[in-house]
Amino acid sequence: MEVRLQKYLADAGIASRRKCENLILEGKVSVNGRQVKELGIKVNADKDTVKYNGKIVKNKKSFIYIMLNKPTGYITSVSDEKARKTVMDLVDIKTRIYPIGRLDYNTSGLLLLTNDGDLTYRLTHPKHEVDKKYIAVVKGVPSEDNLNKLRKGTDIGEYKISTSKIRILEKIKDKTKLQVIIHEGKNRQVRKMFEYIGCPVLKLKRVAVGKLQIEDLPQGRYRHLNNDEINYLK
Ligand code: URA
Repeated sequence: MEVRLQKYLADAGIASRRKCENLILEGKVSVNGRQVKELGIKVNADKDTVKYNGKIVKNKKSFIYIMLNKPTGYITSVSDEKARKTVMDLVDIKTRIYPIGRLDYNTSGLLLLTNDGDLTYRLTHPKHEVDKKYIAVVKGVPSEDNLNKLRKGTDIGEYKISTSKIRILEKIKDKTKLQVIIHEGKNRQVRKMFEYIGCPVLKLKRVAVGKLQIEDLPQGRYRHLNNDEINYLK
């Protein structure tokens, strides 16, 4: 059966489908010895030889799904030019996997990793809008007026945000602990939301992605998702 080259690469666990499109455009992929630099080419898993960075990409259908409790001080990437620690340093798995989406260097909590490019594509696509739940500690005490602006969705300067659910959990002297649920995943969104209302985020942890919860998974540890969790995501 023929499939699009980017899907073939994503199914083989190289990266998400969107990233695979970029790898093709960057000229890192060849089919039967010929470099391919345009999208739209189809390959036959039984007949064609696909190479990425000069290495054969086998068509693989066994997928891995794990949940990591990311500590702060790690970047969400498979490698780093500046040789900082990456989340991959915490995962001891032979198969090549990669993070779904991103948590900032200073954000902790639930990060999913997989080699299922289709799932990555779906979960990170804006139209899917999976709820992501965070616990944030911010400086100061946000007013209800300002929280309502964020809840309704507004232009926060760099971009517009849509609706969110925000609940104050606790006031601790000159800081406030809140639960924040967003369904988008724009760059540094929670930090930018609270910067916008003058209450910068001091601490941020993601505790849930959809129905998946971090619960008591210790920081720096990971576990494989169970079948119910995998089926829920798919
Ligand atoms: N929002 C942020 O600002 N940072 C994260 O890491 C995740 C969501």
